[in-house]
Parts: sequence; structure tokens; C-alpha cells
Amino acid sequence: MKIIVAEFAEETNSFSPIIADRGHFTPWMSATSKKEIHGFADVLAENGYETFFGPMYRAESSGKVDHAVVEEFLSDLRKCIAEKGPVGAVCLALHGATQTTEVDDGCGYIIKTVKKEYGVPVAVSFDLHANVTDCIFTEADAVAGYQTYPHRDQYNTGRRSASQLVRLLSGKKEYAAKVSVPMIAPASGYTTDNGPLSELYKRAKGLLEDGTLLDFTMFQVQPWLDVRECNAVVYIRAADPETARNTALSLGQDLSGMGEFMQPQLDSYEAIIKALEENKTGKPVIVSDFSDSPNAGSVGDDVKILKYMLENGLQYRCAFIVNDPEAVKKAFKTGIDGKAVFRIGGGIDPANKTSVEVEAVVESLHSGRYVPNGPALNGFELSIGKSAVLRAGNFDILVCNHMCITGDLMLYRHFGIEPTQFQMAIVKANTSFRLVYTPIAGKILVVDTGCPSTADLKSLPWTRIPKDSMFPWVEIKKTYKAAEHLMEKAV
Ligand SMILES: [Zn+2]
Repeated sequence: MKIIVAEFAEETNSFSPIIADRGHFTPWMSATSKKEIHGFADVLAENGYETFFGPMYRAESSGKVDHAVVEEFLSDLRKCIAEKGPVGAVCLALHGATQTTEVDDGCGYIIKTVKKEYGVPVAVSFDLHANVTDCIFTEADAVAGYQTYPHRDQYNTGRRSASQLVRLLSGKKEYAAKVSVPMIAPASGYTTDNGPLSELYKRAKGLLEDGTLLDFTMFQVQPWLDVRECNAVVYIRAADPETARNTALSLGQDLSGMGEFMQPQLDSYEAIIKALEENKTGKPVIVSDFSDSPNAGSVGDDVKILKYMLENGLQYRCAFIVNDPEAVKKAFKTGIDGKAVFRIGGGIDPANKTSVEVEAVVESLHSGRYVPNGPALNGFELSIGKSAVLRAGNFDILVCNHMCITGDLMLYRHFGIEPTQFQMAIVKANTSFRLVYTPIAGKILVVDTGCPSTADLKSLPWTRIPKDSMFPWVEIKKTYKAAEHLMEKAV
């Protein structure tokens, strides 16, 4: 039996002004690290199935996906199956939480279309921040999402979904249960490494290790997704229906009480000054400017922290990064060692009006290609587009076209900015950065600059999400009954 493995990955921030068109999607390949697609392929090969790779569409987080891209992906998938098939199953590495210009549930649409056209089992993998809808639960035969945040189990997630598929193809009966919890929490407010959510994960992992469960994922839907059906989801696989159902109900019920504990501890702008004054560690203060994180679909053009530093005459040695195509153009025109006045920031998101004017020397110019070495996309060649390092007094400002994988140290290092040589560095990421930045940081601050991936979810201009029944608009802790949000099926 032949099985196709393909990928369609994009996480939508409904508040981003950038529509993800075909140009946003590229196949990202790495010579050194394995991802979901390799996990699928390895397990299938180990079990004697012939696999082949289909279309690979992967994009950074952004706004909605142009629906035509989804149709193009499906058309490529059909061509590939027509050429190399027929197939006995389809494996799709998806991100989840993909809204298109036409449908709220882009992944559900893809799965349903494939299922309808080929009538074979469909196995999918997701990010932990996927929005697992009723449609996805009904249509997909195998579902696995990351169990780590910061994410570092991409390969194993592909393996887990493929393992579910292999069991299904071998005729073993198993059961899936899903409990939805109508809540969203800011991605900077929790990890699976410590805190209340990690305790819930430990409990579920214990059930996996002692053989009670066959698999589980607890999806924390990415919280800037303005769609009608939007939930955190507990997804369970077990050998009998009672275990699947009861575990999903128990974990879902407990998750429903955690919203208030999954909020980030935010620092003020003043705390930056205090941290810089008091820091005697010899290591830099790292400031997470998470609300402008391109990893979470924001555009990365915000300079409120830089502005604050300038206005307060702070002379600390600081590193900044900003998406600003106009500043890059000017840097290339000015040339290395040239001096000019640059207006930086607020150049992409029409809602962002903050910019600063600085006199700076062009320190270096770059093609923008770089290879991250952190756990997110280790070994993948990426590009932030043409870019330049501007030196304005004690500040080094990396201006670029589209920064990506912002939690990776190489995003600075490759362009000649060594964070450990600075007193402060801005990182535009929610949580992913902690894995590599914690060891080099004297202190980590978390400052909300009010951009599209803000932790102040209520401040955003929601139009579709059902606020009348969801946390944080409604305190669901006392009223939520998991049994009212249960779906189950035999697989
Ligand atoms: Zn994620």
C-alpha cells in the first residue's frame, strides 16, 4: 500500500493585516533536523508501507490565508496522487488554527475535501496551538498535536499520528474522545515545562506511560483567532470507549478552571529601567516584546520599547530588531559606514502609528539568509529578506523585511549582533525564546506593547468569536460541564 505525506502549515492571527498569499508558502527543508513529515514517513516505513512525499506548503504565522492557496495545495496533492498513487491513506502535517479568506476552519476544509475525494484514512498532525473543530474530529482518522510548549516534539508528533494510522490499517479497534473547552489564553502565559498546565500534562503523560491511554493531546488554541468555533481541546485515544471518554472529561473539566492561571506576569516599561540599573549578572536583560511577535502572526514593526529608551535618554548597550523595508532600502542606499537619519517602525501595520527618528551609521548589510540552530527549525535555511544593522549611539538595530523564528539566537548572531555582549536585547517572541535565551539572560522581562498578539485579548476588535460563552469574557470555571462538550467515536 502506498501512502502520501504532505504538509500545509500556517497559523492565522485574524488581527494581522497581512494576507498569506502563495508567496508566503515555501517548502522548508533541513539537512539536519527531522519534522512531522519525517516522523510520518519513518513510522510508515518501519511498518512496511511505501510512502512518497506530496506538496509541502509551510508559512510563517500571518493573517488569513488567501483561500486560493488552499485550493492550489489540494490541486497539487491530486496531481501527486494521480502520478504516484493510488494511495491507501493520506498523511497531512498541518499547523491547525488556519483561517482562510473564505472559511474559518481551513484545516477542516482540507481534511474533509481529501476524505471525500479519496475515501481513505486521513492522519493529521498539529501544533499544540491548533483549533481542533468538530469537523476535524469527525473527518480525521488519526490526530496528534505537539505535547510541548516551547515546541520541541515536532518529529515525534508525526510519529504518533502515523502510529495511530498504522494501528487503524492493521485492523485494531480504538476510540477517540474530544472535549472542547471554550477558552483562550495568551500564549505568553503558560508553558508545558512548569506551572499549572504542566501539572495537567504530567497527569496525562502518566496515563500514557502506564498504558491507560494510547495517545493524547491538549490543544491550547492560539488566542488571536477570530472564528465562530474556537476552543481549547482535549483529544484522547484509548483502547476502550469508557477510558477515552472519562479521561477526556476529567482533563477537560480541570482545564476549564485554569484560564486565570494561564495569564502572563507582565512587566511595565519602568521595570526595564529598574532591571538595567539593578542587573549585576554580567548577562543581558532580555525583553520579550511578545505582542509584536511574527511567530504569533504580528508584523514585527513595533518600536515602542526603543522609543521609550530614547525618550528616557537611556544609554545602555541595547539590541533591537524591527521589520522595516523602507529603513532597509535607505541603509543599502547609504552604504556601509554611511551615516543618515532613519525613521524606523510602524511601517507595515496601518494600525501601528509609532515610529522613531534616529541618526545612525550603517554597520553592516545582509542578504537576509540565515540558519536557526534552536529547537524550532534547527538547520532550516530561512530568510529575513535584505537587512541591515544600524548603530545609533549605544543601540544596534537590525532592520529587515520579514524576521522569522524570532526565538532563535541566530536571528541576532548571524547578523553580527551577539546578545551576550549587550546589556539588553529585545526578542519578539512569546515563549519559544525561553529555551535558548534563559541560559544567557540575566533577567527576562515580558512587556506588552499592544500589537496584534497582545495578552490583553479583550482589547482586540473581535467580530466572530462567541464572547457570550467563552473565557476570558465569561468566567466558565463554575458553570462549565465537560459532558456538554464531548464528542466520541470508534476509529
Ligand atoms: Zn504553537
